[in-house]
Amino acid sequence: MVAIEENKPLQQLHTFHLPVSARWYVEYYSVQDIKDLLKTDLLRQNPFLQIGGGSNLLFMSDYEGVILHSGIKYIDVVTDSSDYVLVKAGSGVVWDDFVGYLVKMGFGGAENLSFIPGEVGASAVQNIGAYGVEVKDIISHVETIEVATGREKIFTCRECRYGYRDSIFKKELKGKYIVTAVVYKLQKNPDYHLDYGNLREAIGDRDINLQTIRKAVIEIRKAKLPDPDEYGNAGSFFMNPVIPYSQYNLLKEKYPEMPCYVIDDHYVKIPAAWLIDKAGWKGKTIGGAAVHEKQCLVLINKDSATAGDVVALARNIVDSVKDLYGISIAPEVNYI
Ligand SMILES: Cc1cc2nc3c(=O)[nH]c(=O)nc-3n(C[C@H](O)[C@H](O)[C@H](O)COP(=O)(O)OP(=O)(O)OC[C@H]3O[C@@H](n4cnc5c(N)ncnc54)[C@H](O)[C@@H]3O)c2cc1C
Repeated sequence: MVAIEENKPLQQLHTFHLPVSARWYVEYYSVQDIKDLLKTDLLRQNPFLQIGGGSNLLFMSDYEGVILHSGIKYIDVVTDSSDYVLVKAGSGVVWDDFVGYLVKMGFGGAENLSFIPGEVGASAVQNIGAYGVEVKDIISHVETIEVATGREKIFTCRECRYGYRDSIFKKELKGKYIVTAVVYKLQKNPDYHLDYGNLREAIGDRDINLQTIRKAVIEIRKAKLPDPDEYGNAGSFFMNPVIPYSQYNLLKEKYPEMPCYVIDDHYVKIPAAWLIDKAGWKGKTIGGAAVHEKQCLVLINKDSATAGDVVALARNIVDSVKDLYGISIAPEVNYI
C-alpha cells in the first residue's frame, strides 16, 4: 500500500522550511511497495527523488517530479552474541529514535551520533558523523533496491566506500539505489570515544556510560546548533576543506592562528567555520537567509528566506573564502 499526494507542500518535510512544493509525494511502507512503484508510469515517466527527514537538502525551487519517502519502520536484533549484536533498522526509522533504542538496550557505538536529525536510510548514504565517530564505524551492511531493475542488493560496509560525509551512494551510484534497511554492529562492552571536542568535559563528574554520553552529546548540540523548528537549517552547510600541507604552511605565514587537523603527511583539514568567521560572515544576511551567530558553518532561514536567498548567501561565502585564502569550500548540503 502506498500513499500518493499531488502538489504537496514540502515546507514541513525538510528542515530549511523553505516554501517549496513537489508535483507528487509518495510514501511507501515496504520493500515490495517500492518494487511495485518502480514499475509504475508515475516513476517511469517522471524524475523522482528519495528523501528522508529532509535535513540535508536545499530545494532550489519546486520539485517537478515525485518525492519518495520511506515509511519502512522496524528495529530487529538479527544476531545476538556474547560481545556484539547486529541490529537491523528500516530506512524510515528516525535516526535519533534508533540511537535512543540502542542506548536503552546497552548496545554501544552510536551514542556519539545522538540527536543528528534525519532517518536511518540517509545515515548510510551520508556517512553521518559527530564527536569522533562516523556511522561507517558501526555499519555492517546496507540493504537496497536497484532503481533500474527493482532487484534487491546488499552492500557490505566496504562496498559502500565510505569517506568523510561521503559514500558510493553520493557518487557513482547517486540516485541508482534506494536504501530500504541498514544493519549495524554494536558492542555489548563498548569502548567510549570521549576525546573529541568538549565531550569529556560536558560529562563532568557523571558516571561514564551510554546514557550519560548520549545526554552530554544532546546537551552540547542543543546549546550549539539552532533548532530547525526555530530557524530552518540543514546543519553544517559546508564541508571542511582538505588542502596540501605546503599550501597550509604558506597560509600560516599570513594567518598564524589558522587551525588545522592533520590528515596524513601531505594533507590537512581546515575548519570551514573558522574560514567563514574570519572572512567576516558571522551573522551576515542576504534576504531572509543568515549565517548563524554561534556557528558560522550553519546557514539559517532567519526570516522567511527564499531558496534564492540561501543560494546567494552560500555563493557569496564560497567566493569570498576563495578570494581571501585561495581555498575552495564545497557544500555538504544536497542542492535539489
Ligand atoms: C541541526 C542539524 C544538525 C546536523 N548535524 C549533523 C551532524 O552532526 N553530522 C552529520 O553527519 N550530519 C548532520 N546534519 C545533516 C543531516 O542530519 C544528515 O545528513 C542526515 O543523515 C540526513 O538525513 P535525512 O533523513 O534528513 O536525509 P535527507 O536530507 O532527506 O537526504 C539526504 C540524502 O540522502 C538521500 N537519501 C535519503 N534517504 C535515502 C534512502 N532511503 N535511500 C537512498 N538515498 C536516500 C537523499 O536523496 C539525499 O541525497 C545535521 C542537520 C541538521 C539540520
